[in-house]
Amino acid sequence: MAQLSLRGIKKRFRNVEVLHGIDLDIGDREFVVFVGPSGCGKSTLLRLIAGLDPISDGEFQLNGRTMNAVPPSRRGIAMVFQSYALYPHMDVYENMAFGARLMGLDKAEVEARIAEAARMLRLEPLLKRKPRELSGGQRQRVAIGRALVRKPQVLLLDEPLSNLDAALRSDVRLEIAKLHRDIGGTTIYVTHDQVEAMTLADRIVVMNLGRIEQVGSPRDLYQTPANTFVATFIGSPR
Ligand code: ADP
Ligand code: MG
Repeated sequence: MAQLSLRGIKKRFRNVEVLHGIDLDIGDREFVVFVGPSGCGKSTLLRLIAGLDPISDGEFQLNGRTMNAVPPSRRGIAMVFQSYALYPHMDVYENMAFGARLMGLDKAEVEARIAEAARMLRLEPLLKRKPRELSGGQRQRVAIGRALVRKPQVLLLDEPLSNLDAALRSDVRLEIAKLHRDIGGTTIYVTHDQVEAMTLADRIVVMNLGRIEQVGSPRDLYQTPANTFVATFIGSPR
């Protein structure tokens, strides 16, 4: 089970506030997409949820437990970054094993988990390759596989398709939708692309300038946007 609750979340860098009080509840097994223009605070919010940056104000709970002071490795949350962030000197297997070993899993368990993730993501033939020997789509699948090996309750994906060309983008998008159903966890997906949001989300969170403008199903947002910002953002062509 993974229910998230964000209450009055603020983030300041030095003295500049970039998130102004985010309130949001996310249900177990939900696929929630954060959308909004570049710079509105999507990645920052994801990093706070993952525990990669401290929350300045407010509270984040996972399954009723305060997470504010819990280190990233103990949250049951894994994040896939926009830029893959694979280790160039390690092969695919080692890249996938690294985080799992940090969690203290034994060798056999790590091996079993990598085998399972590799099967789900069709990475079996690539396990001995280095990142430079992979295409963009393959690298992104490794980055996702590395997160899955940790068996997170919550999977965070920050613009996972942004480095892929158009053809691959729809492939990987379908894979992500399928993974979400297969692993039965909660997924939070960040994009600035309305089309991705509309096709993937159970609910969409529209952000602008460090605030939430509206939360709703794709249909709600399309049919009854709360304001002109949402209407323009959701309705505008790509
Ligand atoms: P998005 O992911 O929606 O494009 P970000 O969360 O990356 O937006 O950024 C939100 C705001 O916070 C931006 O104004 C950005 O410049 C600022 N910001 C992000 N990270 C840092 C940081 N480490 N130090 C200072 N400012 C930052
Ligand atoms: Mg971002």
